[in-house]
Amino acid sequence: MSSFDMSGTNAMRDEWYEGPRKPLNGQGIMLFLYSMVVTFALVLVICKNFESPEQIVAEEQRAEEGRRDNVAQVAARSMEAPEVYEDEASGEQESFDNPDVTWSVQGEESQPEVKDDVLIVEKGDNFIGVLQRIGMEYAEASQAAGALKKAGFDVRSLQAGQKINITKTVDVPFGELLSVDKMVIEPSANIKYTVTRNEDEKYVAEAEQQELKTENKVVKGIIHSSLAAAMSNAGVPSNIVSNFTNVFRYKVNFRSGIREGDTFKVLFDRKMTADGRVFKNGNILYAELQLGKNKIALYRYKDSSGNIDYYDEKGLALKRGLVRKPLEFSSARISSRFGWRRHPILKQRILHSGVDYAAPTGSRIYASGDGVVTRAQWVGGYGRYVTIRHNSEYSTGYAHMSGFARGIKPGVRVKQGQVIGFVGSTGRSTGPHLHFEVIKNGKKVDPLKIQAATGANLTGKELQRFKVEVKKILAMAEEGEKVASAQ
Ligand SMILES: [Zn+2]
Repeated sequence: MSSFDMSGTNAMRDEWYEGPRKPLNGQGIMLFLYSMVVTFALVLVICKNFESPEQIVAEEQRAEEGRRDNVAQVAARSMEAPEVYEDEASGEQESFDNPDVTWSVQGEESQPEVKDDVLIVEKGDNFIGVLQRIGMEYAEASQAAGALKKAGFDVRSLQAGQKINITKTVDVPFGELLSVDKMVIEPSANIKYTVTRNEDEKYVAEAEQQELKTENKVVKGIIHSSLAAAMSNAGVPSNIVSNFTNVFRYKVNFRSGIREGDTFKVLFDRKMTADGRVFKNGNILYAELQLGKNKIALYRYKDSSGNIDYYDEKGLALKRGLVRKPLEFSSARISSRFGWRRHPILKQRILHSGVDYAAPTGSRIYASGDGVVTRAQWVGGYGRYVTIRHNSEYSTGYAHMSGFARGIKPGVRVKQGQVIGFVGSTGRSTGPHLHFEVIKNGKKVDPLKIQAATGANLTGKELQRFKVEVKKILAMAEEGEKVASAQ
């Protein structure tokens, strides 16, 4: 011990002990030791309450290293605080031992801040999981899901890539989520769900139907390489491009019939949202090809019985040829042609009434043209047999099927290319093949030689209705072109 300490101790003893000075006896020694203990205790208290600058720096470094942990610690300590401080007169503020105070000195007090965020649903995600990932409690997320369900949206239908726009309150600068105050989900362009919190802090959701308006769009362009490329380059949506080529399929040979510099024009309708997004591309109302000097213009028309087809301005139906090889298996070879032949045993002339295509069992058989199914049944040597009536002139027949396609029965309307059945070897047949017949005015003819066309022309009242429709379509096209050139 240094002499300074000794003198200090003596001085203190002088101050505190006000009794008459006595020589150091046994009692005096006890008194001296007692005062030493008191002094030591005082020094300890002072040292503890005033942290050295080094200690403060160390504290801050720890804070830097693990802010999140510290937040948790602070939270834990402040939970304990009432017990600790209630008994003592000194408040929280006076204790430099409280880390909270250290931070407030640095101006780093946590503050709530409202922020917008976009959550994206990933593959394999679910709604509650996405929200838990940003720190939301399971119970809260689940309550929000329940609110959405009440509003008509099942969160199980969330698709990968779906955005959830949220407004949240976070703890700054630590970024801890305090609450999610609003969520907006638009599962499709025409409906929006908004989740907010009510006065009881419970989530409530409401659905908002976005109004859709129909817009007519005109696009035209010059063909350089191919029609499809020219249309795509001009911004025609792909489904409209494929419908356009389908409409002209039987009118135009796309390989040899189109030259550089030919032009196209298309008018189609589509549904738009109020904020100008395409909800759905609709139908082609008008399709035009200018091939050299030859202009082909077709109008969409729904007749009074509900059938939709494309007609020229005179109401003449778009003529579609019958498909001569109505098979999925397009490389199927002809195993027997149409014609009379002499039966080797019966020594009789027998007509082979169709053309045979050898194809594997189960290959799809297509309707050769649009029409109405007239038969789908077992017919003797034909086995399972389907006939389709295309118009007053033409019908087609399909024999030896292994099975009919679903829904194929008499009276059903079919489209060209629609699957009507499957290749088989039923009836009098030596192996799997399609026996295909074309019947013209009740008489079987060579399917490979026909120049058949389907589609009925418009007459009478139907034609009058059509002409009104044509005027409407032309007016729409004109209007659409104005809009297009103004853009
Ligand atoms: Zn045959």
